[in-house]
Amino acid sequence: MRQNRVVIIGAGLGGLQCGYILCKKGFDVTILEQDGTIGGCLQTFSRQRTLFDTGFHYVGALDEGQALNRLFHYFDLMSLPWSRLDNDCFDEVVIGDQSFPFANGHDNFCSTLSQYFPAERNNLQRYTATLKEVGDHIFDKLKPSQDNSFYETSLFSKSAHQFLNETIQDPLLRKVLSGTSLKMELCADTLPLYTFAQINDTYIRSAWRLNGGGSLIADKLAQSIIRMGGTIKTHTAVTTIVEKDRQVAGVMTAKGNFYEADWVISNTHPAVTVELVGESAMMRNIYRKRIKSLQNTFGMFTANIVLKKETIPYINRNIFVHKADSDLWRIQCDNTESVMVSLPAPNDNLSYASGIDLLTPMSWQEIEPWVGTPAGRRGEDYVAFKQRKTEQCIALVEKRLPWLRDAIEHIYTSTPLTYNRYTATAEGCAYGIRKDYNNPMMTVLTPRTPIPGLLQTGQNLNLHGIMGVSMTSLLTCAEIVGTDSIQDELKNYIKD
Ligand SMILES: Cc1cc2nc3c(=O)[nH]c(=O)nc-3n(C[C@H](O)[C@H](O)[C@H](O)COP(=O)(O)OP(=O)(O)OC[C@H]3O[C@@H](n4cnc5c(N)ncnc54)[C@H](O)[C@@H]3O)c2cc1C
Repeated sequence: MRQNRVVIIGAGLGGLQCGYILCKKGFDVTILEQDGTIGGCLQTFSRQRTLFDTGFHYVGALDEGQALNRLFHYFDLMSLPWSRLDNDCFDEVVIGDQSFPFANGHDNFCSTLSQYFPAERNNLQRYTATLKEVGDHIFDKLKPSQDNSFYETSLFSKSAHQFLNETIQDPLLRKVLSGTSLKMELCADTLPLYTFAQINDTYIRSAWRLNGGGSLIADKLAQSIIRMGGTIKTHTAVTTIVEKDRQVAGVMTAKGNFYEADWVISNTHPAVTVELVGESAMMRNIYRKRIKSLQNTFGMFTANIVLKKETIPYINRNIFVHKADSDLWRIQCDNTESVMVSLPAPNDNLSYASGIDLLTPMSWQEIEPWVGTPAGRRGEDYVAFKQRKTEQCIALVEKRLPWLRDAIEHIYTSTPLTYNRYTATAEGCAYGIRKDYNNPMMTVLTPRTPIPGLLQTGQNLNLHGIMGVSMTSLLTCAEIVGTDSIQDELKNYIKD
């Protein structure tokens, strides 16, 4: 009979949320984090008194009554200093020398873009209606279901690219609607409609930054977990998941300690999880091979720029700048064709920006020559490579922000190697395993593994991002306490 000791591998958002849910349910929770800081992709760092986010930049659906708002009320995260992006232009898409605003609210979104594409008004309405329909059903996944229908939802087996092409006639409008999508990997041959529609819909509902950065989310969850009796240990890498009598028995750490557990939840990349599983009667090699063969989404190159003091007014939106001739659905990472510009929200109500982030997709192949080199000593050629990449980003962005170059005080950069180092994620990928609409049964993973008692959580399973990871945490914990129990837990927060 399984008892209530839970060990969670990794204190990313997924691990912390599972810890929170299970502490609330009375479980004895220990979270083991390999890095010195909790949060994974939610980590924030400070340079010259300017705060920068490493992963997370903004969230959607946080207005009263919207999906993430309800979930964050449950996780006690709504008291954090959230600040809303501009209602009539939370995202701006720049293609060549043309610029298009994304507005909040489905009708507002439609009517704003219709001003630029009047002949597409009806198609835009059909487009947003589909997004809204998908977004409206986000909580359906929490309904008890004999057939596990979430993982078989037909939207995971439909092509996002095909949907866009069939719904929108004007090729420029298709590009505009794809233009904010550095927050997912737009891959024409694989991206499921579910991922595209769910993520875009969340932001159209409402878009928010967090004054003070994503680490506030991790810290708040950690405080709640500790207050409820849970334990979180940093600098504690799990090296082996131990199986005994055909079920999970606990984990070994790099420090040589054994943590006995009735349940182990792995918040790390599934390819890492199968590597951690030692001798096993339950996990066959064919399963390990399958998981290790799954492809990953691209990584990110990030330039975190400290701006000269009180020179640039804060911009309350994100700007996505694309080369005029780029194909957003077949992005060539090494050409630096697209850059996301995001500004950390000023935390003291100043109207000046203190920093600015430039993000562009980067493949693992691009930094492969430096894999295995020690951090901080990867060599002059690595430094030169990062400088080249930074210059390409600035050259693209300064067409829209001509003041940028003169306003730069200092630049700090990171690559997928950096993410791999801090979060142990395979190939430093930004959004986990690549979901493939041609093969959803293989690429959309369930929390269960072949080893009884060993579960998974986090962005790799079905939907990435803050919203996706939050939903997955609930699904993972439902495997332990039952869907009814999770629904009961959430009944005051999630109402139709
Ligand atoms: C550049 C970038 C920008 C993003 N922007 C946004 C955004 O604006 N909005 C949004 O909603 N989402 C965004 N995301 C996605 C979002 O940040 C992630 O989906 C989410 O934070 C992932 O959480 P996770 O818990 O699944 O994984 P992670 O954050 O990767 O956490 C996994 C944790 O497990 C730990 N770990 C791994 N192996 C071990 C081990 N052996 N032992 C112990 N610990 C281990 C890691 O150190 C890490 O702390 C962005 C991501 C990136 C990379």
